Amino acid sequence: MACSINDAQNDFPILNQQVNDERLAYLDNAATTQRPRQVLAALQHFYEHDNANVHRGVHTLAERATKDYEDARVKVQHFINAASADEIIFTKGCTDSLNMIAATYGEANVSAGDEIVISIMEHHSNLIPWQQLARRKHATLKYIGLNDQGQLDMEDARQKITDKTKIVAVTHASNVLGTVTPLKELAKLAHQHGAVIVGDGAQAVPHMPVDVQDLGVDFYAFSGHKMMSPMGIGVLYGKADRLRAMPLYQYGGEMISEVHRDHSTWADIPFKFEAGTQNVAGAVGLGAAVDYLQALGMANVQAKEQELVDYVLPRLTALPYVTVYGPQDPRQHTGVIAFNMANLHPHDVATALDMDGVAVRAGHHCAQPLMEKLGVTATARASFYFYNTWRDADQLIKAIKETKEFFD
Ligand code: PLP
Repeated sequence: MACSINDAQNDFPILNQQVNDERLAYLDNAATTQRPRQVLAALQHFYEHDNANVHRGVHTLAERATKDYEDARVKVQHFINAASADEIIFTKGCTDSLNMIAATYGEANVSAGDEIVISIMEHHSNLIPWQQLARRKHATLKYIGLNDQGQLDMEDARQKITDKTKIVAVTHASNVLGTVTPLKELAKLAHQHGAVIVGDGAQAVPHMPVDVQDLGVDFYAFSGHKMMSPMGIGVLYGKADRLRAMPLYQYGGEMISEVHRDHSTWADIPFKFEAGTQNVAGAVGLGAAVDYLQALGMANVQAKEQELVDYVLPRLTALPYVTVYGPQDPRQHTGVIAFNMANLHPHDVATALDMDGVAVRAGHHCAQPLMEKLGVTATARASFYFYNTWRDADQLIKAIKETKEFFD
C-alpha cells in the first residue's frame, strides 16, 4: 500500500514519464484515472493464477475465480455501505448502469403524463436514457436549474419535484463544475412525493466517502475506471426490494434459475442482472482499487483533493484572462475545474498545455445542455486526484501563463 497520500504518485508508474520533453502533469482524472501498481499486480495475479469462468464450475480455478469475483462484490458493498452484497450489480460502467435502470425500472414504472426530473448539469449518460424513456412513454422530462453559485437550486428542485414525478436522477458531483449536490436532501424530497431517486456517483465515489444508506438513494451508479480500476467494469447499486421487483435487462446464461422449452425462471439478485460471462478481471481490479482507497482512507483522499483545489482555484481566478465555471469557493468544489481563456478556443488551450506536459481535457464534457446554460460551446477542464501534487498544480498555472504569452 502507499506509504502516505503525499507520496502516492510513486505507486503510479505511468505518471513517471515525460511528455513533449516535459514532466507529465496528468490532470484529466475526471475522464479516467491511472492505475497503481497494486491494481496492476492484482490483475496480473488473477490472470497468472486464478483465471476461469465463474459460478457453477467445480474445478479449483473456477472456484478461485468465483471467490475473487464475489469477494470484490463484498468489498464494493462495504465501500459504499450497501446493506448487502446482493445489492451490488456489476455492469460495464456508469453509463451501462444508468441505461439499465431506465430500461428496467423506468420502463415498468413510467407512464404517459408522468414526470422524470434530472438536473441541467447531468452528464449525457444520466440524461439521454431519461430523455428517451420520456419520449417512449409520453412522459415529461424536467430539469432542475442552478443558482448563481453554480450549485443545484434546491428551491427549483422543490418546484419541479411533484406528485407526478416518478424518477429523480441527479449527479452526486458534476463532471464540469465540480459541484457536489445535496443528494440526501433530494432523496428525501423524491420520497415525499413517492418517486425513486437515482444518484450518478461517477465523480463522487472515487473522491469522497459515500454511504448509500445514509444518502437514502434507491439506485446509485458509478464506473471503475474513474477510481483506478480497469475500463469496462462498473456498479449499479439498488435497494434489494427495488431490484427484486425490477424486470430483467438481458437474457442468457448465468441469470436463470431453470430453463424449459417454453418458459424460464430467473436467478435471484444480483445474478438476474448479470447475464453472460462477466468482466471478472475488471471486478478483481475494482476490488484491489477499493482496498487501495480504503487503506488511504476516503476522508484523506477528499482532504488531499481539497488542499489541491484550495491552492489552484484562487490562483486561477486571479488571472484576469481566465474564466472559471462553477462555485468560486474552493470549499464547495471537488477536484474538477472547468475554465476558459479569453479569446482562445479550449482545444487550443489544451493543445498548448500538452506541449508543456499538462494533460487536461477540452470540449463539452458530455454535458451540452449545461454548456448551453453557461453560454459556451466548450471549456478546458483540469481534474485532480489524490495522487496529484503541488508540482502538478504549479505546472498547470505556469503553462496557462505561458499559453497566454504565446498567443498574445
Ligand atoms: N456520469 C458522470 C458524472 C461522468 O463524469 C461520466 C463520465 O465522465 C459518466 C456518468 C459516464 O461514465 P462512463 O463513461 O464510465 O460510463
